[in-house]
Amino acid sequence: MNFKPYIPGLKPADLGPLSRFLPALEEGVISSWLSQLDKPSAWLLDPFGFSPRLVLEAARSGYRVLVTANNPITRFLLEMFANPPAQSEFTAALADLGAVKKGDERLAGHLQSLYLTSCEKCSQQIYAQAFLWRKGDDVPYARIYECKHCGDSGERVVTEEDIERARKITETDALHRSRAFEKVVALNDEDRFYAEEAIQYYLPRPLYVLTTVINRLDSLNLSAERKRALTALILIACDAGNSIWAHPAERPRPKQLSTPSQFREHNVWMMLERGINLWAETGSTVVCEAWPTKIPESGGILIYEGRLKDLAHILKKEIPIAAVIGSVPRPNQAFWTLSALWAGWLWGKEAVEPYKVALRRRRYDWAWNATALHSAFNHLGDLLPEGVPFFGLLPEPEAAFLTSAYTAASAAGFSAQSVALRTEHDPVQVVWKYGQKQNNMDVDVLQSAIQEYLLARGEPTNYLYIHAAGLIALGETGALKKTGQEFDEALRKTNALIESALKDDERFIHYSTGESVETGMWGLAPSTAPRDLRSSTHNVPTLFREDENNESLSDRVEVAVVTYLQKNQKAIYLEIENDLNSRFTGLLTPSKGMIYAVLNSYAERESGYWKLRTEDVASARREELNTMYMLIETIGKRLEYTTRKQDKLLHWEDAQRGKTVRTFNVLASALIGRALHHAVPNTIIVIPGGRAALAAYKQERDPSLAAQLKKHTLVKYRLLRTLLEVPVLTRETFEEQIASDPVEKSTGQMMMF
Ligand SMILES: [Zn+2]
Repeated sequence: MNFKPYIPGLKPADLGPLSRFLPALEEGVISSWLSQLDKPSAWLLDPFGFSPRLVLEAARSGYRVLVTANNPITRFLLEMFANPPAQSEFTAALADLGAVKKGDERLAGHLQSLYLTSCEKCSQQIYAQAFLWRKGDDVPYARIYECKHCGDSGERVVTEEDIERARKITETDALHRSRAFEKVVALNDEDRFYAEEAIQYYLPRPLYVLTTVINRLDSLNLSAERKRALTALILIACDAGNSIWAHPAERPRPKQLSTPSQFREHNVWMMLERGINLWAETGSTVVCEAWPTKIPESGGILIYEGRLKDLAHILKKEIPIAAVIGSVPRPNQAFWTLSALWAGWLWGKEAVEPYKVALRRRRYDWAWNATALHSAFNHLGDLLPEGVPFFGLLPEPEAAFLTSAYTAASAAGFSAQSVALRTEHDPVQVVWKYGQKQNNMDVDVLQSAIQEYLLARGEPTNYLYIHAAGLIALGETGALKKTGQEFDEALRKTNALIESALKDDERFIHYSTGESVETGMWGLAPSTAPRDLRSSTHNVPTLFREDENNESLSDRVEVAVVTYLQKNQKAIYLEIENDLNSRFTGLLTPSKGMIYAVLNSYAERESGYWKLRTEDVASARREELNTMYMLIETIGKRLEYTTRKQDKLLHWEDAQRGKTVRTFNVLASALIGRALHHAVPNTIIVIPGGRAALAAYKQERDPSLAAQLKKHTLVKYRLLRTLLEVPVLTRETFEEQIASDPVEKSTGQMMMF
């Protein structure tokens, strides 16, 4: 395995249309990988079509991207992002819709009036932004509004009038509901039941607004472009109108269709209006055509509507693929079912037909996921010339997802060339290549690989990293390729093997209050000798190289950041991150939280650049170290100790008892792990006050460090300075004082890892 640096993004994931269902991929990652590939205008293949943004960015980087997209909604998003109508088209489309007559009223007024409510403060009639419901109730319990007359805003209890309005709309509900599913499936269709069930996630009012609006989409005489704009707005409304909007939003990225115990009913008309802004910022135009139309060499998107396996004849003859890219799909029953429903509403039954299976398929578990991925990887193996790289992103990685993707790829003959994992919130980056390898696996090799990884890391870590290390080891030996069995069996075995490797070995310590292997952190027992790793019976190459000094990852990252800042007096964050990611690759990729913890301790920001604080420039720190040495000696003298300096340590000697009573290790850094490495018992570690938050951060994320530190004392420079001022200082008061110097908590939960 050749671990490549984690490629950081330049911008957070986009929050545009339907972003709660699309993979949250940072922008800039794929273009950065492609610049390494360095084959502009070559053909790429995205076999999953799971992330429209990824394809778009690749095309903007000057590549031609062939995409297989069978979800009609994802496909529509891709076409819209590639070539969005002008903002004026969206505005005009909504105006055209709103102006349609409904009886004596305009449609806009009619639909808005369904959301009328009276302001609690000034009693004026206004439009609610949302109503709040409890699961199972037939009326809402609260409303949310912003009163434009008096400024009152927020969540207010519903009135009789609100309840009456919500009840009234249910009178015609049966009719609208049956119209809504007839757009998706025919009356005699065996899948009718599933469509009806999916529509249960729409309350009567939003369903009425949506069906009313959708019926006008065809009867309005709009230009093609304006109709596209209106369709896009209605799509936003289709998602805004369902009940899977938990309140408060504890589950912002739903995977399953299920009604939260409390949820929001959005004002669907207001959402149509808001949609204009959501679509407005989708960027520059990219050529996007459907096969067999040609696209220019300068880059673009070619959508293939058929299935992956049918691509063979095209690829062999006309389209040489230079690389495969893709966000690897993970099960999302909510999005897939809703996609089928929306496709029917927006484009009719024919559009649903090829995707109708999504309505029927209710249970997407990991075995299902692995089977589907395996089939995709198998087809890829048939299609691609040997040696074509596959850059895969695994968003929202969890252990089960990693096993599924990794096993599926391995079983189809793909081996991972590189795996880079940052945190459980970032997509894992994998480079696969097609090629055969087959071998046996035993638990010893797995345990050695995990031990090797923990030694390389030098600190405990979450289960996800251990799991990934285990999978990589299993993949390297080819053990995942023997799959006579079904995938649910194979996945269960793989997961169980990694879990048992951890549980049945006293080399590993579980820092956790829970039973599950996935909770808490895993580390190495202190007695674990670094070098008894691989017994001679295993001919497995070293996967993870331990740090020669056995230092923890956080200490090494601290050194690397400071070294970088000393060499580069003004640095932007991305340069620092790039430098670090190239030093700490694969499963050692530092989190942004860790990088910022070090930066905030040593550096300050000046018009976008990070630079070392004046007090942290090397010469200033050396001077201060010397001051501290003198201070310790002076305090020692007052307590009638002689101070002896040896290497960088200061020892207080009690001449009467002829022994060392205290040892001081004065640091300019927060390299506590290093300081503890050879510390004699009762060492006092002295750090600058500016390092306290970083030291606390390290203890919070590393339970073994926190435990070791209990045997010693950590104080700040300031404490020793204060002690010097104390008029009467005895040996007892000294001990009391140093025991009571708190090293403050680091700030912010977000920065934990
Ligand atoms: Zn008011």
